[in-house]
Amino acid sequence: MTATESVTLLEINKKIMRKGGSQNTKIVATVGPACSSYENLLELVKTGVDIFRLNFSHGSHADHLSVIQHIVAINEEYKTHIGILADLQGPKLRVGNIKDNALPLKTGDVITIVNDKTAEGTMDRIYMSYPEFAEDCQVGERIMMDDGKLVFEVIETNKKDTVRLKTLHGGVLSSKKGVNLPDTNVKQPSMTAKDREDLEFILTQPVNWIALSFVRRPEDMDDLRDALERTGHPAKMMAKIEKPEAVRNIREIIRACNGIMVARGDLGVEMPIEQLPMTQKEIIHLCMQYARPVIVATQMMDSMITNPSPTRAEVTDVANAVLDGTDAVMLSGETSVGHNPPLVIQYMCRIIEQAEKQYWPHITSHRPYPSPNFKLFHSDVVCFNACRVAEEIGAKGIIGMTVSGYTAFKVSSFRPQSPIYIFSNHQSMLKSLNLLWGVQCFYYDQFSSTDETIEDCTIILKNAGLVQTGDTVINTGSMPLEQRLSTNFLKVTEVE
Ligand code: PEP
Repeated sequence: MTATESVTLLEINKKIMRKGGSQNTKIVATVGPACSSYENLLELVKTGVDIFRLNFSHGSHADHLSVIQHIVAINEEYKTHIGILADLQGPKLRVGNIKDNALPLKTGDVITIVNDKTAEGTMDRIYMSYPEFAEDCQVGERIMMDDGKLVFEVIETNKKDTVRLKTLHGGVLSSKKGVNLPDTNVKQPSMTAKDREDLEFILTQPVNWIALSFVRRPEDMDDLRDALERTGHPAKMMAKIEKPEAVRNIREIIRACNGIMVARGDLGVEMPIEQLPMTQKEIIHLCMQYARPVIVATQMMDSMITNPSPTRAEVTDVANAVLDGTDAVMLSGETSVGHNPPLVIQYMCRIIEQAEKQYWPHITSHRPYPSPNFKLFHSDVVCFNACRVAEEIGAKGIIGMTVSGYTAFKVSSFRPQSPIYIFSNHQSMLKSLNLLWGVQCFYYDQFSSTDETIEDCTIILKNAGLVQTGDTVINTGSMPLEQRLSTNFLKVTEVE
């Protein structure tokens, strides 16, 4: 595609570039019955969604396929780079059926968990979808059910198939409720048989991120990495942090994947909930250090599943995630089953815009200097200084040309004040990069000479109304062009 062709396409794309580069924090929206039609998805894109999440805990492959096809069609028609995140369910534990769908439990009641799917769901016989539970648990460990609403303690296990639990905090237990084992060393693999089946389907689709749930150790990513390498699929790997063990191994996990989700739903049940805010901040700062995008997820605008406006606490939560420097904020039930998904996105945009007006002192104070221990230290220093020079001269943009995407990950991790414009000829990668803080993506495939490319990129941005004559921009890239080296130059360009 030439610069002129790109310009025409961008004119169309401008219809949809509603945020005009003024918002850096990205929005991830979970798709469900409330927004799965072409028209609904398009409206959400126009309102501000950057990435759609397909939650494989729900829906059939046919449902997901239809959504993927709509997103692909939107991207083709509007020349957008809306990404798709496929989220595998992982070893989510659940109780089986409960008799009459309601078992009232009070403090001190003892229930028995058995490894029998046909168990009738009374106090004496409740099934749980974890065959090795009796083997793995220890007396004294806590067990939570229904998002932590019910709390139990293991008082006996036969180490084979039966476990007795004492109720510490009662309530009404109903069928298929989730179970969390915060203290137990769960030996189940992160990828279940269902995940493998889902993954086989996902790997035939143009998804851009694949998230693995309940990751505990860096090795948990190995199967996913192998599957991607085996099939040559370009999707990036995301680890969902929802176990205390994952928090303990967080640096190694960050290094083993391409992105992180702070999955506060399960994490808030599995760890003392008061530790959640600092854990969120620490994970975000580490992700910035390792140049991995991070999503803050769950209950951000929960009340808007039914209400027409968010609570004060929700507005403050979203703003605080932005001030922490997160790459993206995520919506779950608010967009998948909520009453008014576009209204949720409108509120999200308003909160992000307002918070971002005030946040540079916060996030630049966490900007880490590149580590000489990192493999591409020299490139990192170029990217770091591109951000600094841009700030010192008031550049109207940092323009990165990238083959591997590395420059986008790195420049974005420094959270510069100038907009980041990334040019690449990899369509799929551009859609992965759309998750990154501040990154705006452009397809460009005329990498004939460095000078020409710099000129073309500037023309494209000028025609899109993103820079003007007399503005200064910073270019980064690698020379000589044909050798495809990692980023090795930065240049100050005045827009003609
Ligand atoms: C979470 O627990 O916060 C989360 C995002 O996971 P899921 O919605 O897949 O349970």
